[in-house]
Amino acid sequence: MGQLGGSMAKTVHALLVFALLLAGFALKGALVEPPQASAGEFNTPRAIARLQRILGDERPHPVDSDADDAVRGRLIAELQAIGLQSRVQETNDCSAMPKTRFVSCSHVRNVIATIPGQKPGPQLLLNAHYDSTPTGPGAGDDGLGVAVLLEVGSILKANPPPRPVTLLFNEGEEFGLNGAHAFVRADPQAKQVNSLINIDTRGVTGPAVMYETSEPNGAALNLYAGATKRPYANSISTDFARLIPNTTDVVFFRPAGWTLLNWAIVGNETRYHSPGDNIAALDPNSVRHVGTEVLAASRAMATVSDPAKAGSGRTVFTDIAGRSFFHLPLLVAATLLALLVIAAFVLAWRSSALKKPLGVAAAMTIGGTITAGAVSVLANLARLGDFWRAYPLAVYMAVYATLLLAMGFVWWWWGRALERRRMRAAAWLLVLVIGAALSLALPGATIFFLIAPAIALIGIAVSDRSPFAANLLITLAIVIQFVMFAEILALLEMLLIDGPLAAVTLLAALAALPAIIEIDAKASRWAVLGTLIAALGLWVAALAIPRSSAERPLQFSIDYFRDATKQRASWSVATKQAPLPRGYPGQWSKQVLPYNGRTRWVSAAPLLDTPIPSAIILSTEPSGAGRTVRLSLSPGGGNTVAIRFQKNAKLLALGLAGSPVALPPKGEPDKPLLRCTGRSCEGLQIEAIFADNRPIEVELFSTRFGLPPQGQPLEAARPRNAIPQYAPDSTITMSRVKL
Ligand SMILES: [Zn+2]
Repeated sequence: MGQLGGSMAKTVHALLVFALLLAGFALKGALVEPPQASAGEFNTPRAIARLQRILGDERPHPVDSDADDAVRGRLIAELQAIGLQSRVQETNDCSAMPKTRFVSCSHVRNVIATIPGQKPGPQLLLNAHYDSTPTGPGAGDDGLGVAVLLEVGSILKANPPPRPVTLLFNEGEEFGLNGAHAFVRADPQAKQVNSLINIDTRGVTGPAVMYETSEPNGAALNLYAGATKRPYANSISTDFARLIPNTTDVVFFRPAGWTLLNWAIVGNETRYHSPGDNIAALDPNSVRHVGTEVLAASRAMATVSDPAKAGSGRTVFTDIAGRSFFHLPLLVAATLLALLVIAAFVLAWRSSALKKPLGVAAAMTIGGTITAGAVSVLANLARLGDFWRAYPLAVYMAVYATLLLAMGFVWWWWGRALERRRMRAAAWLLVLVIGAALSLALPGATIFFLIAPAIALIGIAVSDRSPFAANLLITLAIVIQFVMFAEILALLEMLLIDGPLAAVTLLAALAALPAIIEIDAKASRWAVLGTLIAALGLWVAALAIPRSSAERPLQFSIDYFRDATKQRASWSVATKQAPLPRGYPGQWSKQVLPYNGRTRWVSAAPLLDTPIPSAIILSTEPSGAGRTVRLSLSPGGGNTVAIRFQKNAKLLALGLAGSPVALPPKGEPDKPLLRCTGRSCEGLQIEAIFADNRPIEVELFSTRFGLPPQGQPLEAARPRNAIPQYAPDSTITMSRVKL
């Protein structure tokens, strides 16, 4: 082949690198495919059939409602059918998330069934909640957990594990984890537990992500590593989950000191806490993945009598493409990373004239990250609201194409003439330095900067002796780095459905950098041009396609709100900031209403007869320098009642009369709040302890699920592919009382 043919071939090769990078970003979510069920293992159709019978007509069944009574009755019948006797723990519970000033109360009925072990001993607890939100049937959240517990229970019943396994189907998770709190606080069987597997979900599809463990995680991780068949877990996610406020039952289980593993599915959040969280939408592949993983982990944990002894210290870990599981003690991983950083410095130093290649690598990474981030912010200004919710792949492809475009441009403009060996040394050094910095903040990230960089450094070291071996090793390193990062990017895309889109750019830049610098000088111009066309096309598509689809609907919750003291009323619509459809009946403007801090569409409404909340003062007694006030609450016919205190109220404790929960002096929300959900809220006796005797006014809210008949035109005009999410259509009434 002549000179021209050679450069053509290189150009084609370079364009292929770009196309593969882009295609790789698109395909990364498909890395984990479910295994097929085999005889004697987790039976997915049987598990889903049970769930179908339990959910019946798929009505929402919030805690302490007639619908939840029916669900519980059918759940107990299914337990009986697999030969398990159950009992019900029934109690009033008020609980507050740690460090918050929000107390949730409900009357819970936990269903508890124990599978006897071959020998008695400390118990393994499997937990899921059977209540749903009032907004939807909860087939995923947490019907999936219920279905998995029943199927695992039936398999363990047939082949008893070495020690007892207890199934806890708790009630009242959705509003404040009351079922889990009540079990740990008041059920004697909690004292016999030493380990826990928890299942809860935030979506209807996606892989079984094991995202939380007991701390330090060594013991739990060794058990997981020994059991998992199709791992999907990494220590960046578990570190990240520890940083953000978490609202699963594990919050109240963790202080018990049990060895624990926590699973979730997080795909398609648009169905979460909505009527769309139904059995038809629940992905059987997800049920199978959670089921096989939880069954294997249950067996592993029930085989050792003291799971806490299965390991020690902190472990960093990741699966690789859902096929294999790689884990190391944090200390070993951190030492290796430090050695790699030193080795990379030495290699880069030997290359001499380090400044320019390192500058190019940094400019590519930082320039790419900033450009992709800035363009995504501009796009969001051009089209308000989370416009990507229906087709997130299009917008993420556009973000990645922009990133590759900016990185490719810097490479073509400034770096293309640099000698390859020097550039490789600089790029991998930069990846390692950023990785080390990231690992200082999230130690679990260490694992992502060991394998590929080590292979790449060997490649760089041998490049003088064998350019062929060097190319081979570098290519291998690029592929491994990409596969490992792809999973975190896929997870980020699923988790951050509300944005910011820019959250993926830095990790994607680190995955792309070592590949882009392999593109030779002549081809880089064509690569940049190709990416420019791809980026433009993808942004046009992302900004033009509908923001909702049948599979991924738009949030659209309608409320009627009346302030009974001030005699004012309004309609409101919450849409995640999306505009209302043209001609939607009413005069709408964006406002914040007193019952919730969210900005919503608001329009004037007539004064209607709605359930008025009330609170009767039962007693006021001195307590220290302040006073204890006992109240009897009434939702006035609504489904929930809430009492909200002033921001500056010196409130020390709030909760059930006789056992209030201590509140921190500062915390979320600003105005301390107690909310009760369910039938037992009528006449619920609560207690508030104040540090002073200053008279105060408190606000009361009653919520009845559903709109008054006058809201019918608004319901009828709700767009196609739009459903209530996070809260059902509600009738909310506010009143005030002086204490
Ligand atoms: Zn849940």
